[in-house]
Amino acid sequence: MDFSLTKEQHQLIEMVEDFARNEVAPLTREMDENQTFLPPGVWKKMADLNLLASYVPEEYGGLGLSAMDILITRQAWARGGGCLGSLLSWGASDGIGTVGILKHGNEQQKKKYLPGIVSGDLISCFALTEPDSGSDAFNMRTRAVKKGDHYVLNGTKMFITNGPICDIGIVLAVTDPSKGPLGISAFIFEKDFPGFSRGKKIDKMGMRSSPTSELIFEDCIIPEENLLGGEGMGALVANTTLHWERTGMGFAIGTMEYNLNLCKEYALQRYQFGEPIGNFQAIRHRLAEMKIDIEAAKYLFYRMAWLIDTNQIPAILDTSVCKAFLSKALVKNADAAISIFGGYGVCSEYPVQRSYRDAKIIEIGGGTYDIQLNMIATAIVGPRQKVKKKYSG
Ligand SMILES: Cc1cc2nc3c(=O)[nH]c(=O)nc-3n(C[C@H](O)[C@H](O)[C@H](O)COP(=O)(O)OP(=O)(O)OC[C@H]3O[C@@H](n4cnc5c(N)ncnc54)[C@H](O)[C@@H]3O)c2cc1C
Repeated sequence: MDFSLTKEQHQLIEMVEDFARNEVAPLTREMDENQTFLPPGVWKKMADLNLLASYVPEEYGGLGLSAMDILITRQAWARGGGCLGSLLSWGASDGIGTVGILKHGNEQQKKKYLPGIVSGDLISCFALTEPDSGSDAFNMRTRAVKKGDHYVLNGTKMFITNGPICDIGIVLAVTDPSKGPLGISAFIFEKDFPGFSRGKKIDKMGMRSSPTSELIFEDCIIPEENLLGGEGMGALVANTTLHWERTGMGFAIGTMEYNLNLCKEYALQRYQFGEPIGNFQAIRHRLAEMKIDIEAAKYLFYRMAWLIDTNQIPAILDTSVCKAFLSKALVKNADAAISIFGGYGVCSEYPVQRSYRDAKIIEIGGGTYDIQLNMIATAIVGPRQKVKKKYSG
């Protein structure tokens, strides 16, 4: 494994980190308070800098960049002070809202939708979760019934990132209830399809710059050419997407680095008992532990990117280990940052409190921490065995 970066990659990192520092970081407090996504002008500049869906092949408007390029770019964005919420929505559009089209779409679908996502004209989303099915995602209620040359969808999707702002999206629905997960299909919907509407924006404690809502499909008409990958392929589309999402969460390493940089500066300039708090072992050890987690997370995620870029498919175990480790490390990092800042850490003018609120959500989205542990345990000891319990009294 070789994780050394090229000159071009270093230039890319520098460009993105500067952009985030100058154009995004000054907006993050307002975005967080008002629960708004990046302004359209900033989104457009990101498209002009070829930052959106840049892994998409050139024939569909992208740059065909590597998994490592994507990882280091988004890490740089977060390290420069770009908030996790904007990264979540960015990734929901050009990651989980796109990868299903790229990997399972036909030529017509790719040509119709991918260039718009790359140019920033289309914001996408991925709609799997429902009010009554989260971790048990394939136990969904949304139904799609074929009628002539279209499908009629009925159901509600819950917690959908970019729900309030999406132009298109991928939605999962049951087409054959007798087949379990093999009876689930995926569709590309557009915001103007009859019968589609959005629920009201969900008011969240964190990731507030990432708009979230319910999506409602009420006798929604989806043309048959928008079926993705054929009937019954929905679970495969969803698994490809979730695998991608967990790998993509490496962006949060940049937030851990951003917090460490803030803490380092603060520890050197904040004096108590006549000396900088960075002299105290309690503070120094917190900084050291933050660094350990950053380095460990980097190697886990860089290895994942290396596997993808060398055409090896990361195992479910690999992505679950990455996601589980990162989510806990991020929460621990944000917690340490608040402690180092003391009372100022909980004040809204200091960004560490936002990281703390945002971090918890990384533990939940894309499959909770518990679900990742379940998958890791299954890879170790196999599925849970059915046993007949004998009671002796
Ligand atoms: C901000 C945000 C953005 C999101 N964006 C999207 C999106 O864009 N698209 C989308 O489809 N979904 C999205 N989600 C939904 C997310 O994927 C789900 O919230 C997540 O999968 C958990 O589902 P749930 O919230 O229904 O919790 P539940 O599944 O009800 O879980 C509740 C608790 O039970 C535990 N639990 C459940 N089952 C098991 C088990 N078998 N073993 C051990 N513990 C278990 C969980 O770990 C958790 O602690 C988003 C969620 C949030 C909060």
